[in-house]
Amino acid sequence: MSTRKGHISVNTNDIFPIIKKWLYSEHDIFVRELVSNACDAITKRETLARTTGAETPEGKVEVLIDKDKKTITFSDNGIGMTEEEVEKYIAQLAFSGAEEFVKKMKEEGESTDEIIGKFGLGFYSAFMVADKVEVNSLSMNEGAKPTKWTCDGNTDYEFSDSQKSTVGTEITLFINEENKEFLDAWKTRSTLTNYCDFMPYPVVLKDLAEIERIKAENAKAEKEEDKKPVPENDVINDTEPLWKKDPASLTDQDYKDFYKKLYPMDPEPLFWLHLNVDHPFTLQGILFFPKLNPNKPLNESNIKLYCKQVFVSDNVKNVIPEFLALLKGAIDSTDIPLNVSRSALQGDPNIKKISNYIVKKVAESLKKRFKQDREAYNKSWEDIGLFVKYGVVSDPKFDELMRDRVVFKNSNDELVTLGEYAENVPEKYQEKMKGKVVYFEEASSDANLREQLKAEGIQAITTDNYIDPHFMQHTEMQKQGDEAIKYQLVDNAIEDLLETENASEDDMKIKDLFFELLVGKKDENNPSQMEVEIKNFKNSSTAAYFKVDEQMKRFAQMTKAMGNSAFDMPSKKTLVVNPSHNLVKNAFKLSSSEDKKELASKIAHHIQDLAAISGEGLTDEKRKDFVSRSQDLMSELSNLAL
Ligand code: ADP
Ligand code: MG
Repeated sequence: MSTRKGHISVNTNDIFPIIKKWLYSEHDIFVRELVSNACDAITKRETLARTTGAETPEGKVEVLIDKDKKTITFSDNGIGMTEEEVEKYIAQLAFSGAEEFVKKMKEEGESTDEIIGKFGLGFYSAFMVADKVEVNSLSMNEGAKPTKWTCDGNTDYEFSDSQKSTVGTEITLFINEENKEFLDAWKTRSTLTNYCDFMPYPVVLKDLAEIERIKAENAKAEKEEDKKPVPENDVINDTEPLWKKDPASLTDQDYKDFYKKLYPMDPEPLFWLHLNVDHPFTLQGILFFPKLNPNKPLNESNIKLYCKQVFVSDNVKNVIPEFLALLKGAIDSTDIPLNVSRSALQGDPNIKKISNYIVKKVAESLKKRFKQDREAYNKSWEDIGLFVKYGVVSDPKFDELMRDRVVFKNSNDELVTLGEYAENVPEKYQEKMKGKVVYFEEASSDANLREQLKAEGIQAITTDNYIDPHFMQHTEMQKQGDEAIKYQLVDNAIEDLLETENASEDDMKIKDLFFELLVGKKDENNPSQMEVEIKNFKNSSTAAYFKVDEQMKRFAQMTKAMGNSAFDMPSKKTLVVNPSHNLVKNAFKLSSSEDKKELASKIAHHIQDLAAISGEGLTDEKRKDFVSRSQDLMSELSNLAL
């Protein structure tokens, strides 16, 4: 047998150690690389055959595990390689690609995770798990001679004669000790499922030991029906993923099934969007609007990125705006340059175009839904609301299309846009309410105040304190002039909107009394000292409520939402007391006699605590006081009744 030796000329001598070391992060990537090379080779053969009219067999990739020999062999019936081609493409060119990768890794110090997905290491990723690699190939060229190339993990290699008689390539990995888990079929299967799920040719996994075992058992079986099927044609993948198909030929169930396949643990998606574009770039994909899972971190990316049906990454952060990562699904594009580093990807004009396209499509589909089936739109709002608001706040294009389709729950529990909100303002308040939106904070506003406004026909929208402070700030800044908009909390709005009577002299005495009982002395040096105000609302059943500094509060919420918990709720508060409320009047009367001042003080404190309970709630300390004071008061009351 004749052998020919060769040497890979590289500048990075430690290339093999580096490739191997990397195996601690994502060493299963070799599966993707070798199977996608095999698919490429089949495509090349088919393409060539089309021009020459030659016959080609059905493309097929086989992954064979031989546990005894400790090998995994990837075979294809693709184009094959001559000895010169192996020399050129494998030994020299592929190597220079790997070398460039190693250099980049050293220079940029980027996290390997990030490069791995973007930078195909290609053929040489085999050395992450194998000490020795053999390439056995027969080219489809007329009269080509088969060849075998062997390299055992250093820069020397060897060619020898081969007996291969069918066109195609077989790549055998002699798996090293540290990676023997890949010799277990389940491990290789799960890796194949992850990376090769939608590759364009059938990928068959064969576990030789298992096949032999079943064959031996079958040989022993006495009856024909006791024989088990031999797992020799176990196709892993779906060669025609849904995104490749014509949407007109698909049913809702097809989409739901596909979603289930991608996310087996998820509840059914709400709706979806099939993307298909050929110009000025090629992209296909399906984006699903999932049911919102409040327990899942928002920054987790859920969209799978494919390049010609090869799974590339589930990190699409650099391809589409962050808010779209709340969606799920798959995007397949040949125009996303995957073999470059992160920084290059961000400045890529193609990526910008793709990203704009997706944003526009998503917004248009929501817009259409809004227009055509408002009821369904409203129904899904609980799940999509966060996504839409996040998009409006963070992406100008999306903002333009969707801003006026953001809805809020009003005091009647209906979902309305801000435009609809404005239209529903009663005639009487149109002037005062121009550009004003009253909001009610779900977690901390006083529901009595909302009711009081509602009695006047004034609605309040309900807001959360996570995304809504951002949304409100954004719209306040964006809408100017005639369109200008201003949000106002119910507690501030109520005194602006509802008619009050001027405070009398007695009212001012009540104010002083409450201040004295609840706060004590005025302290000019303490800016967060509580204040007391008197407001005489008509027909009000509220004895008192808390009013907070709105700007401070929103600022605190935003910093909190961004993960800065150092800013808690602002401490500056004003207790607004209603002097015509019976409890308040009684407290005032009691305070004039010395022996009843104690009771007056208890009532004042109670009024204050009740206002807190109606809003943000009581602190632990205050709650304790409240409970013991309640007991005292109830005892006094029951003693009186007895
Ligand atoms: P890339 O796939 O990006 O070109 P690789 O390192 O994965 O880089 O492969 C290097 C080259 O080796 C391929 O471009 C191809 O020419 C050749 N090659 C690798 N695997 C096969 C195969 N199974 N059949 C035919 N040619 C192959
Ligand atoms: Mg490749």
